[in-house]
Amino acid sequence: MECIFCNIAERKSEAEIVFEDDSIISFLDIQPINYGHALVIPKKHFDNFLTIPPEELIHLINATQYIAGAVKRSVNADGFNIISNNGDSAGQTIYHFHFHIIPRFNEDFNFKPKFKNYKTGDIKNYADGIRSAVLKYKDIYNG
Ligand code: AMP
Ligand code: ZN
Repeated sequence: MECIFCNIAERKSEAEIVFEDDSIISFLDIQPINYGHALVIPKKHFDNFLTIPPEELIHLINATQYIAGAVKRSVNADGFNIISNNGDSAGQTIYHFHFHIIPRFNEDFNFKPKFKNYKTGDIKNYADGIRSAVLKYKDIYNG
């Protein structure tokens, strides 16, 4: 299947590239939340956060930290968000894994989610469910 981010990594499609090394590439998002909004992607195609191999992810996150500092300094931002959307419901539109680096300013609009409160006892039930899942898949954790 045609992937626009693979095409950018292979230089078949244009992008405003700000950094690259052997395995990752970073370029500006064409529909920025704020100017300077950058994306960081592995050059190899992985669909999402759960399918990128750990070694690739470690390199990608190190590069993201480095590029985030450069973005923040260059647009004189007060802060920034690092986000990754995974799945339709989370707003993922390009199924080639990427981090967003979004510069933020003190006078910015608010895009905070509406927070929920747990009903009595529910927080433990949710934690129990996640604790069992963590144990069940422990053999694939190589941290
Ligand atoms: P997501 O919705 O998290 O999958 O993020 C995909 C992002 O890629 C969106 O913010 C788009 O604006 C951005 N995008 C889509 N096509 C391009 C492109 N050709 N060059 C740069 N950014 C793109
Ligand atoms: Zn791809």
